[in-house]
Amino acid sequence: MYNYGECEICNTTLQERNIQQDFWIKDKLVVIENVPTGVCPRCGEKVVNAEIGEHIAELLRDSERIDKAPTISVPLIRCEVATGMA
Ligand SMILES: [Zn+2]
Repeated sequence: MYNYGECEICNTTLQERNIQQDFWIKDKLVVIENVPTGVCPRCGEKVVNAEIGEHIAELLRDSERIDKAPTISVPLIRCEVATGMA
C-alpha cells in the first residue's frame, strides 16, 4: 500500500480507498471507478500518487475506450441562488 503521508490542509494521516473520480473531458463527464486514492478522513481531501495520476491521464486520452464504455445517467439540477441574493 502506498504511503500518502498527511493531508496538506489539516495534517491528518491519509487513508487509501478505492473510490470513483469524475473528470470533465471537454463537455463530457467521465467517471473512473476503483481509483486507489489517499483520502483524508477529516476534511475529505483527495490525493492520487504520480503513477495513478499518469494512468488516469492515459485512460482519459483513450477516446475510443471512452466511447465504448458503459454510461450512467446522473441528475442535473440548477442552482437557483445568485451571489448576493441568499
Ligand atoms: Zn484533511
